[in-house]
Amino acid sequence: MIEFKDVSVTYSSTGVDALHDINLKINDGDFVFVVGESGAGKSTLIKLLQKEIDATSGQIDVNGFNLTKMRRGKIPNLRRTIGVVFQDYRLIPTMTVYENVAFVMRCVDAPKKYIKTRVPYVIGLVGLSDKADCLPEQLSGGEQQRVALARALVNDPKLIIADEPTANVDPALTYGIFELLKGINACGTTVIVVTHDLNNVVHFGGRIIRLDKGNITIDQVFGGAEG
Ligand code: ADP
Repeated sequence: MIEFKDVSVTYSSTGVDALHDINLKINDGDFVFVVGESGAGKSTLIKLLQKEIDATSGQIDVNGFNLTKMRRGKIPNLRRTIGVVFQDYRLIPTMTVYENVAFVMRCVDAPKKYIKTRVPYVIGLVGLSDKADCLPEQLSGGEQQRVALARALVNDPKLIIADEPTANVDPALTYGIFELLKGINACGTTVIVVTHDLNNVVHFGGRIIRLDKGNITIDQVFGGAEG
């Protein structure tokens, strides 16, 4: 579960109030879109969840961790519960698809035997079994996005954060990526998608949290065309 209580962020370098008094609860298994114009505070919210930055005031709980009181040494434990899909994929160009995914498991010291079974399984989940030995440069944008998703998924996080997951993908492939995210969510993983593409929201439905100048102005569940 994620809970924000009276959370505000002021960037000391500029004095900008990026978030004001945010109160928010996201239950395990929710599918949430975070929308808002550039500068609304979306990235700030996402950075708080991973403790990349600290709130100026207020309290934050994420996946059983109290971020306000957490010591820096415990941050890796928090981050192990979160999978992030970056807008620019962040794949390692010299590694194959298999190695890119396996690398994330090695980083958390997963047993070798488990890596050998888990990596092909997750690559299969995102539909890339026949591309496992390819380098990122040999893949289309949509396929690279799927590798990024596989990397975010492979350590079985409680929460997946996807930052504009379809920003660099052909519109025709957007649907497939959201189908995958919905499938992951159906298995119980909480999914937070940051997007300004409201077409997906309308099509897939879910909970929408809209930020405007650091305030939540909409927090509502929409049915979506797929129900
Ligand atoms: P969004 O992701 O919705 O575009 P951000 O969370 O990046 O919004 O930014 C919210 C506000 O905080 C903006 O006014 C932005 O200029 C400011 N801001 C973001 N990051 C920093 C930073 N590191 N230092 C100073 N100001 C920042």
